[in-house]
Amino acid sequence: MGHYVYAFTEGSKEQKELLGGKGANLAEMTRLGLPVPPGFTISTEACRAYLATGELPDGLEQEIEVHLVALEKTMGRSLGDADDPLLVSVRSGAKFSMPGMMETVLDLGLNDESVLGLARASGSERFAFDSYRRLLQMFGATVLGIDSEAFAVELDKLKADRGVYADVDLGVADLRGLVATYQAVIRQRTGHDFPQNPREQVRAAVLAVFSSWRTERAVLYRRQEQIPDDLGTAVNVQAMVFGNRGSGSGSGVCFTRDPASGFKGVYGDYLADAQGEDVVAGIRNTVPLAELEALDRPSFDALIDVMSLLEHHYRDLCDIEFTIENGRLWILQTRVGKRTPEAAFRIAHAMAQEGMIDADEVLRRVTGSQLAQLLFPRFDPTAPRERLTTGVGASPGATSGRIALTSANAVAWGALGDDVVLVRRETNPDDLPGMIAARGVLTARGGKTSHAAVVARGMGRTCVCGAEQLDIDSERGQVRVSGHTLAEGEMVSIDGTTGEVFLGAVPVTDSEVLRHLEGTASDETAGDLVAAVRFVMDHADGVRRMEVRANADTVDDAARARRFGASGIGLCRTEHMFLGPRRELVERLILATDDAEKEAALAELLPLQRQDFTDLLAEMDGLPVTIRLIDPPLHEFLPDHTQLAVQVALEDDHGDRDARHHRLLDAVARLHEQNPMLGLRGVRLGIVVPGLVTMQARAVLEATADRLAAGGDPRPEIMIPLVATAPELVLVRAEIDAVAEAIRIERGLELPVRIGTMIEVPRAALTAHRIAGSADFFSFGTNDLTQMTWGFSRDDVESAFFSTYFDHGILPVSPFESIDEDGVGSLVTTAVRLGRETRPDLHLGVCGEHGGDPQSIHFFERAGLDYVSCSPFRVPVARLEAARARLV
Ligand code: ADP
Ligand code: MG
Ligand code: MG
Repeated sequence: MGHYVYAFTEGSKEQKELLGGKGANLAEMTRLGLPVPPGFTISTEACRAYLATGELPDGLEQEIEVHLVALEKTMGRSLGDADDPLLVSVRSGAKFSMPGMMETVLDLGLNDESVLGLARASGSERFAFDSYRRLLQMFGATVLGIDSEAFAVELDKLKADRGVYADVDLGVADLRGLVATYQAVIRQRTGHDFPQNPREQVRAAVLAVFSSWRTERAVLYRRQEQIPDDLGTAVNVQAMVFGNRGSGSGSGVCFTRDPASGFKGVYGDYLADAQGEDVVAGIRNTVPLAELEALDRPSFDALIDVMSLLEHHYRDLCDIEFTIENGRLWILQTRVGKRTPEAAFRIAHAMAQEGMIDADEVLRRVTGSQLAQLLFPRFDPTAPRERLTTGVGASPGATSGRIALTSANAVAWGALGDDVVLVRRETNPDDLPGMIAARGVLTARGGKTSHAAVVARGMGRTCVCGAEQLDIDSERGQVRVSGHTLAEGEMVSIDGTTGEVFLGAVPVTDSEVLRHLEGTASDETAGDLVAAVRFVMDHADGVRRMEVRANADTVDDAARARRFGASGIGLCRTEHMFLGPRRELVERLILATDDAEKEAALAELLPLQRQDFTDLLAEMDGLPVTIRLIDPPLHEFLPDHTQLAVQVALEDDHGDRDARHHRLLDAVARLHEQNPMLGLRGVRLGIVVPGLVTMQARAVLEATADRLAAGGDPRPEIMIPLVATAPELVLVRAEIDAVAEAIRIERGLELPVRIGTMIEVPRAALTAHRIAGSADFFSFGTNDLTQMTWGFSRDDVESAFFSTYFDHGILPVSPFESIDEDGVGSLVTTAVRLGRETRPDLHLGVCGEHGGDPQSIHFFERAGLDYVSCSPFRVPVARLEAARARLV
């Protein structure tokens, strides 16, 4: 018989799935002998059962009761006791941390009677009533669903009446009065009294935590972070300890290393005379943890020991919540902490050097998307700027945007494509949509552990918090700071590393890491972050099996790709070679009425193309260059139909009829297609327009011969797009082979060329064994393959209806962004298998957008491809992820 409830003494950190992250780590710390208030965890299994049926599973209530009784026994106090009551918290905690997204209720067990017992036992009536009003407020808002404003308004009113600023300045009588007021609010809003029975309170809180899995903000957060929707949350029931027992008590949050920079040191925030939720909410300003040393040396020392123990135990940055009750330290939570990209690289590298982890583990600890963020620009240090104020740099980046004072405005302006900085006194979970829409977040209150900081770091948004000089006046739609009055909508710039806030938009410059990866900065200037990135990239290159190529059409792009460590070009599109001044030649080709005219146009294109390829092969000397023959529909090279029709009509009206324009208009009309993406393009074009393939092949192969003659090492690969059936490839390949043979005879040179095809039509994947008979290589064109497998027009669907599909959970993420493994992926693996059956040495790669996407790269590793190809800037990311794909 399985069970649903586990005491903290039973579990371990490996059981996140069952106990949630918080529960698993509370159990782990209990096992390590750390001072954790006793308690138990109700498993995620119970939550899933409840969410599925709307009822608690059989036996759960009895199990909870057994554990409550055991807890009462351990603590020597019982819930609701009139003399010395036990109080508990009921805390959510899912497998993946979702900071602030779900509910927690503190101080359960108080009622009109036990509050007096707590007052007597603690010797502080003030503390007892402060705890009671907290319970009423939290229970009212989270369990009973009353708008938390209803309570906040009463508290503000009371503070105003008494002329005090902070809640700690309220007296006993005030708090007693507040308890009565809150009880009245509850009665009035729900029609019922606050439940006096502690066991009923606990039961209701547990159900509320289960249900909080489904709140709108939790659903939104999970979608944003790609956390599965069906995991459910565990619930932890834990004996309360009290940070709100006067100035010798307090609560705090700390990190074993700086989660923003990754540097070692003492990082955290502490708030005296407060319960834990006050720290995160930014209700009063916290002090830096280092100040605790002066306030309470023994607790500080004990905390430093715990930090060191936990970091060595988890071998990673730990994030810790603690409470001090009358000089006694309690640990309430730990987890491997979220961190910024730069901290991730610094910490992993430092821990490897300290011998805590090995180099493979370093690769597991950093991701391609973190690396990508390090390549983002920074504010240009030489640009003029006016600093308005400095807050806490909580999540790095250099961001400019229009000031939005509400989440709703951030969302509205973001949707218009504007860059937005969300400016708030402090943020709370309801600001999540605005934080997602904004490029940066700026708050007046709170430290590195505030809601704004934690959430922004998790999402990779730039964040400056605790900029106390900001006077945010939402009513007037203004922010006043340092003698300036900024209206909502004006531009500000924030630096999430230094915490600086600047007036207007400050220009940005390349990142240091980017310059070093690209090899354009000298070694002497390399800082420790660059050293960490180097360490990671060197090891990644040793670990990965797949090669990384780049998609590059020009010599400049090719050079950049090479500097970023690409080992070839996986896709050179030739269509841009037909644009600009050469467009007219293409028009002549299309308009040609006889072979002579056509040949003449092709003959003029040939030397231009040849020069392009000669330059590219020279730039990529010694490395493969995959050149795709012309792909898009022909009409893309012609003028717009409507415009041309108007022009021709006007010319005719004015009596200067232009015969060439008329022919062009006819051609445009003739070539018009209802579905150009499914029309005359790719290999079809090469077959329908004679001479085109021969010209392109000649340009590539003559360039190859020229490079060979010049002593170079050219390695061209000619790639034929949009093949659906083997005979297409047989036909075109024969044409290319004939050109190669002719040049071999003309020049007396063996040409080192491979000829292959793209696999981007589903039929090609399904008949890959036939197609492989004429191909030296396959390159998966996963953009078209996705488009044709799903029947989605890529240019339309994303804006048309994908968001609706996301809302319904039909799609977790766009299949154009991350490969759809079940569908498109299975076509890939089928083609790999069939192709290699025919040709075991078939070379395999991917050149679609997915070649630079981490999740997709992991799939291509499993599928056994030889390389991925992506845009030059993604090359370092792909190198890292190709290595990680072998490890994780
Ligand atoms: P979250 O997941 O949002 O951080 P928690 O469950 O950690 O929510 O609780 C919120 C705050 O309440 C934390 O700061 C925590 O330290 C405090 N807290 C929770 N349980 C207890 C307890 N038993 N005694 C004292 N403080 C507690
Ligand atoms: Mg917590
Ligand atoms: Mg294509």
